[in-house]
Amino acid sequence: MCDSCASAAAAEEARPPARLSRRGLLAGVGLGLAVPLGWVPGLTATASAASLKNGGWCNPALGRFPAGGHYGAPRGGGPHAGQDITNTTGTAVYAAAAGTVIRRQWGGGLGGRTGNGLVLSHGGGQYTYYGHLSVYRVGLNATVAAGRRIGDMGATGNVTGPHLHFEVHSGGLGRTVDPVSFMAGRGVDLGGGWSRIDPGARGRRVAAIQYLMTQRGYGLTADGYYGPVSAGAVKRFQAARGLVADGQVGPATWPHLVYTLRQGHDGHHVRALQTVLDKHGAGLVADGGFGSVTASAVRAYQSVNRLVVDGVAGAVTWRALVG
Ligand SMILES: [Zn+2]
Repeated sequence: MCDSCASAAAAEEARPPARLSRRGLLAGVGLGLAVPLGWVPGLTATASAASLKNGGWCNPALGRFPAGGHYGAPRGGGPHAGQDITNTTGTAVYAAAAGTVIRRQWGGGLGGRTGNGLVLSHGGGQYTYYGHLSVYRVGLNATVAAGRRIGDMGATGNVTGPHLHFEVHSGGLGRTVDPVSFMAGRGVDLGGGWSRIDPGARGRRVAAIQYLMTQRGYGLTADGYYGPVSAGAVKRFQAARGLVADGQVGPATWPHLVYTLRQGHDGHHVRALQTVLDKHGAGLVADGGFGSVTASAVRAYQSVNRLVVDGVAGAVTWRALVG
């Protein structure tokens, strides 16, 4: 975990606080910036959250939560402004949602305290911050899709070991919230568990569910919208499997839905796999054929996420892909 993530809050106290939260690691970032902050006072948090949820959120990195790396953990200069996620240097870091890269610099403008940092703006006054990166994989001002690799986990800045320092700002830059609960509310388990997709959601994970359901005999159009038709089909599927028929695709339902897939397989389940691989930038054509190109994409994904690299999409790989 990071000592640094801590002291940034102390550093901020030396700056004009304006109306920004003392806890916001990035509070200083907004001051004197040439880019607009994007904070819309009239937009309620609820409204922006609802629209963003439909845009799709995903896990920024696979790893574990180190002791004391949680949001609000005491630090020398103030509470910890984010959630630390520990893994090895080089582990892929993904955009947690679609957005624009508005900062790409050492310390996010805070004197090197968090190493190489990226700030993404997601609109509606919502931002995410990624600290201690070893490598940037995206340019300043770039537009990124949810799940696109934007950097690699590292140990730049003042740290005791490699990890991602991940922050969520909601209601304006500097207004940090607990990333774990924020992401959970958008169907993402930051701890790396199965995601949770509710009726009304949209995105590639939904399209994958629709392909998987089609393979299971519940023909659905893979339009990426989890509307009443898809939710109704999932409820019937859940009832048939003895699951709670709530239409929510979460930790209980995903394992029943996915298939263990390897080279040579062909069908809608492979289209589902290709769709979620594409969410992470694989650039595949969802043709339903698990050939050598798809196998390479699976191995590459497993490698950069520190999974067992066997080219087989089993439950662990699926869980990471849809998280
Ligand atoms: Zn941290």
